[in-house]
Amino acid sequence: MFIDETHITVKAGNGGDGSKSFRREKFVPLGGPDGGDGGKGGDIILKVNSNLNTLNHLAHKKNFEAKSGGNGLKKNMFGKNGENLIIEVPLGTIIYSKDKKTIYKDLNKENDTYIVCKGGRGGRGNVHFKSSTNQVPKFAEKGEPGELKEIIMELRMVADIGLIGLPSAGKSTLISVISNAKPRIAEYHFTTLSPNLGLVNMKTFGGSEKENFLVADIPGLIEGASEGKGLGIKFLKHIARTKTLIHILDASSEDLSKDYKTITKELKEFDKKLVKKEQLIVVNKIDLLDEESLKSKIKQLKKTVKKIEIVEISALTRKNIKELAFKIAKLIKEEKTEEKAEELPILRPHLEKSIFTLEKVINKDGVKTFRISGEKIEKFVQMNDTSDFLGLERFYSFIEKSGLKKLVEKKKAKFGDFYKINNIKIPYRK
Ligand code: GDP
Ligand code: MG
Repeated sequence: MFIDETHITVKAGNGGDGSKSFRREKFVPLGGPDGGDGGKGGDIILKVNSNLNTLNHLAHKKNFEAKSGGNGLKKNMFGKNGENLIIEVPLGTIIYSKDKKTIYKDLNKENDTYIVCKGGRGGRGNVHFKSSTNQVPKFAEKGEPGELKEIIMELRMVADIGLIGLPSAGKSTLISVISNAKPRIAEYHFTTLSPNLGLVNMKTFGGSEKENFLVADIPGLIEGASEGKGLGIKFLKHIARTKTLIHILDASSEDLSKDYKTITKELKEFDKKLVKKEQLIVVNKIDLLDEESLKSKIKQLKKTVKKIEIVEISALTRKNIKELAFKIAKLIKEEKTEEKAEELPILRPHLEKSIFTLEKVINKDGVKTFRISGEKIEKFVQMNDTSDFLGLERFYSFIEKSGLKKLVEKKKAKFGDFYKINNIKIPYRK
């Protein structure tokens, strides 16, 4: 099983409610307010773990929720902050909105983190609402609800080079001898059901650490893969980000040119840009051939590929592996200085949230109800207890400042009409 896309729902913790409490002291019959603030809700944080190669660990869990903040307490004590929830993802995970039209974040660097849902702010305790006219406020703010999102996570590996080639050409074997990856290797086709990512440590070849690179082993492509036949198509998108492709051919195959063309055709049909990536051809399994027949095969192949460099190796006996590693490191270095990797466009979701929309005016028996929606006002009403006198005052002041009052007055609001926000109805006041 290889999971490279998953839909999940994430909910940050709610803020705790502010406390409505009064001091109780022996000789003070009317102690002042001492209700503390609610704690902050926990965030939902996505974090890169470079040891992960798939999203398999998230396959069976669809809902994630961080802890809510504790309610405020008496004696001015704050509620406890809710714990953050950290979700680990592999390097190269892209976070989309649920319609996939917006990219929230591209987690393509080691140790990248992203707060996908912010925890709610704690409500303020009644100690904050004391004023010269109201010495005993029985009002406290409720906690702000934590953000809720449905997201799609998609894994696209971030390798410097991708290994492509027909099944059994020796991709898995090569990645196992050149890097730290431990893929499955077998004689039958399609043993590689998920791409493997391996780090090539150039120090082991006598080079320097600065030359290290990441290589991805892409499962076998077969004819028709780009049309969705076979397994290849599922994985082709993983080489969309690699800068260089290494095309592996099996030297013992009858016709190297034909093998080469088969894969190239698949790539082209999937995405024309893929063929343009810098390529290197590796003819593997040369241990199976005598020198003469190898020579004639390579000669024939050269007629097809012309300009592309060909390296002959045996992954099994490790012949020329070190030379290959240095060649790749050099290619990558040149590539890096030449141009920056193509970056995915990051679309910003709407940062501006309108305060409200006056949705509907329902006129029934001469009584109008102004239905108002909008993230900001809905949140305000949720946190603000309008059954309390002070809460109600805060509501009217909000309505006035936001310009809503003017708007409803244009629509001929009069005594006896109502505002309606979600399920809460509040009378219109002049
Ligand atoms: P993949 O499908 O391209 O990943 O191919 P694998 O790496 O799984 O290799 C397929 C088969 O070819 C395995 O049995 C390997 O042992 C064998 N093989 C790989 N490289 C060589 C090589 O250089 N020489 C020989 N003789 N066999 C090899
Ligand atoms: Mg394989």
